[in-house]
Amino acid sequence: MGSWSETIVFLLVAVYIVTSSPLIKEKEPGADWPKRNSVKQPWADQNTTDKVVEATPTEKDVIDDILGEEVPTELSDIILKAADLTKNDVEKVDYTGAQVWKVATNKTNIRVIISRLHRRNLLSTWGGSQSSIDVLVKPNALQNVTRVFKRENIYFDVVIDDLQQRINEENPPLDQNELELQDRRGHRMTWKQYHRLIDIHGFMDYLAKTYPSIVSVKTIGKSFEKRDLKVLRISDGKPTNKAVFIDGGFHAREWISPATVTFFINQFAENFDVESDDVKNIDWYFLPVVNPDGYEYTHNVDRLWRKNRRPGIPGRACLGTDLNRNFGYRWGGKGASNNPCSEIYRGSRAFSEPESKALSDFIKSSGANFTAYLTYHSYGQYILYPWGYDNAVPPDYQDLDSVGKNVAQTIQQTGGSEYSVGSSSGLLYPAAGGSDDWAKSQGIKYTYTIELSDTGRFGFVLPTTYIEPVARENLAGLRVLAKQVHKT
Ligand SMILES: [Zn+2]
Repeated sequence: MGSWSETIVFLLVAVYIVTSSPLIKEKEPGADWPKRNSVKQPWADQNTTDKVVEATPTEKDVIDDILGEEVPTELSDIILKAADLTKNDVEKVDYTGAQVWKVATNKTNIRVIISRLHRRNLLSTWGGSQSSIDVLVKPNALQNVTRVFKRENIYFDVVIDDLQQRINEENPPLDQNELELQDRRGHRMTWKQYHRLIDIHGFMDYLAKTYPSIVSVKTIGKSFEKRDLKVLRISDGKPTNKAVFIDGGFHAREWISPATVTFFINQFAENFDVESDDVKNIDWYFLPVVNPDGYEYTHNVDRLWRKNRRPGIPGRACLGTDLNRNFGYRWGGKGASNNPCSEIYRGSRAFSEPESKALSDFIKSSGANFTAYLTYHSYGQYILYPWGYDNAVPPDYQDLDSVGKNVAQTIQQTGGSEYSVGSSSGLLYPAAGGSDDWAKSQGIKYTYTIELSDTGRFGFVLPTTYIEPVARENLAGLRVLAKQVHKT
């Protein structure tokens, strides 16, 4: 009997090893933290040799910083959201009567005043530049805030006089023609509408099925609410290819970002044969929606939600982490908040969130020769390079600056939009824990955060008629980047 059971156990173990061995080869990138170069990229086929990635700074700095530095509260105060606008998680949040103002920041104390008004829950901050700041003023606060601004001689323009009306008009249903086209195309993406996650994922799967020799799709992990984090790769498989990683949808409400990234995907996948050598000689990796839970939440409940949807400290009402403050390079530094109620909450530790962890694990474990990392946000029309954590630049910043300026020039020549180029901390303000800083720390040379249109007229609520012009001019910009990557 003993030998029988031993034989059975042996057979079971053998079967297990045989059936699970593909899992060892195609290791799930999100499963652990493998050393660079130790794991083959999931799509590498047998005749592709592992590519050597240049040595990069270690994570030691990161650990040092986790233990260091206090978080300054001024900026996080400014950007804190008016919490009572989002109290009800079931019904749709209604922004009727709320206004967006562009406030001149030429006076030195303006940010302090805005911070004070925010603490009194009268407004929240949207975006801004060095000369102005966009604030959302709640309907019942309009009189009070106006009075304060008048008294302090603060100049402002009412840019949006009823935010809910703008939201209602932003994403109208498709017309009959488009609906019929949609039925015939095999997927539902149009770039004439902001689509739900199911359409975006369906589109990615459609391309993988339709163009299996160049397009493949992998789920690199799951969001907190168990939605797929889907990466689409476009590649002809040449072992000499450099690689570019592009993501979008970090911040839930920035709908133009996934729309633009999927536009790039569509262009390259549908026209790969006739694309330029620059495009064909690059392995493209796209993660159009880094924050799928937040993205769906902006469709279902609160159009202006920014963070992910992971609950924070048990027993406390505030939830969500700013994924773009959760990355592990200089995590917890300036421009990130330790307050779970803040719009720029950094999370409980670096990579505490499943979305940021999956993304970083994927890049770290991939054998792809990543030469560029582009992360698309909105709004403001900026091309930003590291560092974000403080007012400093990397040693090769002149390369980043000149390529960034070429990209900006091409965007302007193509569609007319003006993009400002500079380091994120220098041009805007310090913000530690961003994915761009982390990517740069991993040795990815051409790392940029691109803030898409507009400059505040519609802000996050950019009408669908802007999707194609914004995506098209940025595609032209991307080609400039591709040319640089190809010759690097
Ligand atoms: Zn953003």
